[in-house]
Amino acid sequence: MTTKNRTAVIIGAGPAGLTAAYELLDRTDIHPVVLEKSTYMGGIARTVNYKGNRIDIGGHRFFSKSDRVMEWWQRFLPLQALSDSKQAITYQRSTREIGASAVGPDPERVDRVLLLRPRKSRIYYLRRFFDYPISLSLDTLRKLGFLRTLKIGFSYLRSAAFPIRPETNLEEFFVNRFGRQLYATFFRDYTEKVWGVPCERISAEWGAQRVKGLSISKAIWHFAKKLFQRDRSIGQKGTETSLIEQFLYPKLGPGQMWETVATEVAARGGEVLTELQVVRIEREGQRIISVEAVEAGGAAAVHAAGEGATDRARRRFQGDVFFSTMPVRELVAALDPPAPPALREIAAGLIYRDFITVGLLVPRLRISEPGGDARRAQLIQDNWIYIQEPDVQVGRLQIFNNWSPYLVADPETVWLGLEYFCNEGDELWSRDDASMLELGKAELDRIGIIDRGAVLDGVVLRVEKTYPAYFGSYDRFPELRAWLDGFENLFLIGRNGMHRYNNQDHSMLAAMTAVDNLAAGSFEKANVWATNTEEEYHEEKR
Ligand SMILES: Cc1cc2nc3c(=O)[nH]c(=O)nc-3n(C[C@H](O)[C@H](O)[C@H](O)COP(=O)(O)OP(=O)(O)OC[C@H]3O[C@@H](n4cnc5c(N)ncnc54)[C@H](O)[C@@H]3O)c2cc1C
Repeated sequence: MTTKNRTAVIIGAGPAGLTAAYELLDRTDIHPVVLEKSTYMGGIARTVNYKGNRIDIGGHRFFSKSDRVMEWWQRFLPLQALSDSKQAITYQRSTREIGASAVGPDPERVDRVLLLRPRKSRIYYLRRFFDYPISLSLDTLRKLGFLRTLKIGFSYLRSAAFPIRPETNLEEFFVNRFGRQLYATFFRDYTEKVWGVPCERISAEWGAQRVKGLSISKAIWHFAKKLFQRDRSIGQKGTETSLIEQFLYPKLGPGQMWETVATEVAARGGEVLTELQVVRIEREGQRIISVEAVEAGGAAAVHAAGEGATDRARRRFQGDVFFSTMPVRELVAALDPPAPPALREIAAGLIYRDFITVGLLVPRLRISEPGGDARRAQLIQDNWIYIQEPDVQVGRLQIFNNWSPYLVADPETVWLGLEYFCNEGDELWSRDDASMLELGKAELDRIGIIDRGAVLDGVVLRVEKTYPAYFGSYDRFPELRAWLDGFENLFLIGRNGMHRYNNQDHSMLAAMTAVDNLAAGSFEKANVWATNTEEEYHEEKR
């Protein structure tokens, strides 16, 4: 295949779409045109700047088991200067090393820099902090209290002796592994907050994917080892390094990475057009011919080489190849002529979970801990906290100061993000900003984290389709996927683009693999779906 003079139309300027655009420019002669409905770069992984205080929606750790992704990020934003030439970074119980250098940029002087940040997150329950993931330690047992611990122990023994068979849903998955009592204490409410449905309605497969590696027997073994083992090294060096989890993070939040990539795409002659929402996708049989986009608001803003602004309400973009990161449900609904009815039904039945972040600026927190940074108001060290308290709706609390101190305009203040999981159009989603701000203040006050009267400022952000759900019509998704894979010149990539719980690295690897295929003259789809960062991971310590 010769790629000269070909155009790729890419729907969405999130991590997947921008990676595809850059890779096309870097390795093929295909000209990328990215169509983005909003005004920002990075999709869910964007940074929102509110009066100099920046919000990272969800909190994005930059970590991948894939060397290709790790090196890619550092190409755009170099790692800060560090005195140790090798740094261990740890994520999801896996550790890898990255090369560092004392001559890297200094974040105090430049913005284009990746920070190396410590990771800490805990569970807040019974107005106390517990390890995340929950660990079996004397501290945990003390905080839970004698009676609750006894109940947890007995219910675990009961589940171990009489497991539920067959195990069909997530509740049964948790109960079989942890016992009913521990499930009810640490898993049920949070999982139901995230998904908005009871755990009985979520497939057990979800647990197998997300909770792998956690089990009571392992926890008991670690507990026993800790009780009887003494680390005799000075400062317990042997255990410390692998326990400090670290991740990479752009100085100004995740959106900084994607704004930098978009600038580079435009500098190399690619086009990144904003405020253009793709609403119609014209096909001839199983070939995409063009897409039609409407201006999402006002005149189209154009961040591109050679293109002028236009005031036309609708624009048509023809292409030779198409990449979609838009939600599969919307993609199928936009096809013209329409997809066969059975496939439209599957697409329409795909479910998403939506998300609200309430940003609150406070002078200090009411909670503290030894070692908290007294210089920066009163700050605990967590990046985020899982809120397990059943009397509030907030699901997670971000402390943006601890992601990057540069996200916060005044270091004497604490910049918080309260995360609420919801469904577009439900009671929470429909509340006005003032009511959401009041809810946020009242809830954090009630559970003892802030004084509501001391809040200095706040903002509300609503983000749709943050979580593609593995229920609804998802069990029939393979049928739809097979049909869409039949479109030779259409690649589905990314999180909502593939209806997969993909992190940035998976979203990017799908884009990279699709471009690998095109560069090799292939239109293969199977290897894009098979993108798996585990394979490329070669330095694992547990
Ligand atoms: C709470 C939360 C925490 C997360 N934490 C991490 C983490 O720690 N580390 C990590 O690596 N990843 C994390 N992720 C995942 C990460 O956000 C996603 O993997 C990544 O953003 C997916 O990139 P994408 O390009 O596929 O999609 P998106 O980021 O969704 O981007 C898609 C883009 O397409 C645009 N678009 C949609 N429809 C249209 C249309 N019709 N026309 C034009 N444009 C359109 C959207 O506006 C958007 O800009 C997290 C996600 C969430 C929700």
